[in-house]
Amino acid sequence: TPTARNYELQRNQIQLNDIIGLGQFGDVYVGQCQILRSANKKDSANVREDIIPVAIKTCKVDADLKTSEKFLEEAYVMQKFEHPHIIRLIGICSDSPIWIVMELARLGELRAYLKENISKLKLGTLLLYSYQLSTALSYLESKKFVHRDIAARNVLVSSPTCIKLADFGLSRWVEDQSYYTSSKGLLPIKWMAPESINFRRFTTASDAWMFAVCTWEILMYGVKPFQGIKNSEVIGKLENGERLALPPNCPPRLYSLMSQCWSYEPAKRPDFKNIKEIMKEILLEEKVSDSE
Ligand code: ATP
Repeated sequence: TPTARNYELQRNQIQLNDIIGLGQFGDVYVGQCQILRSANKKDSANVREDIIPVAIKTCKVDADLKTSEKFLEEAYVMQKFEHPHIIRLIGICSDSPIWIVMELARLGELRAYLKENISKLKLGTLLLYSYQLSTALSYLESKKFVHRDIAARNVLVSSPTCIKLADFGLSRWVEDQSYYTSSKGLLPIKWMAPESINFRRFTTASDAWMFAVCTWEILMYGVKPFQGIKNSEVIGKLENGERLALPPNCPPRLYSLMSQCWSYEPAKRPDFKNIKEIMKEILLEEKVSDSE
């Protein structure tokens, strides 16, 4: 298995420019990274230098060892994945100040992008985003990973027709029995499946639930779920059979898929292989009706 060392970058390869966000461990910058790329994999002599735009997550310099290990954990998780709709790890600087260097999503956070472009974004594009997300999650499912924090706030926009899943801070290997306990008690209750709220159980089936909530946010152009409802009231509503309402213009077939993902019983929810196939059909149906 590859170790973090393969991903070690020299600090002088990286240039920090502006701050673009605030992470829980420190500021996030936009910048540039100089990397060596062999033009041909077999031809290691023929390397050229590339400068690529990147996002750099930093960890506060006064962080203790436990905190910095936790910060780097996200990079260790990300290095295992290679998918067109998952933010790619470029590398790390593992001594203080610790930096995690990632592929830049040029257009930033999905929620803000949806709100800003409400009049430009057609239904077909929203369905495309949801489909792309389902392909990323199907990939994670095949790797036996659960993300645990699927929400529009963790989806970034690379181009008007390409979104990427980010934020692997909570993700876990399915076999890893360790429970996630939030020190701040900040659990994304309104996105969570009932068994996650009640028993802190996170599985691919609970990811399917969260995927449907995220799809709802996308179809609602960035509106957050259960607005005006207290976290403590959510589980009662779900147990009474209440669910998020049909978004305007949502194809009936998609709402039916979302409703299946919101089955109280985890075993009754479709898996991502299935979700991905249905999403593809829904997307194609929309393209057909759009051109009629
Ligand atoms: P939290 O756990 O509170 O979400 P975090 O420590 O996981 O915080 P992120 O949410 O990943 O940090 O990053 C903070 C912000 O920085 C994001 O909301 C986004 O605006 C920006 N950002 C992070 N990564 C990227 C990236 N690869 N491309 C573009 N912007 C990014």
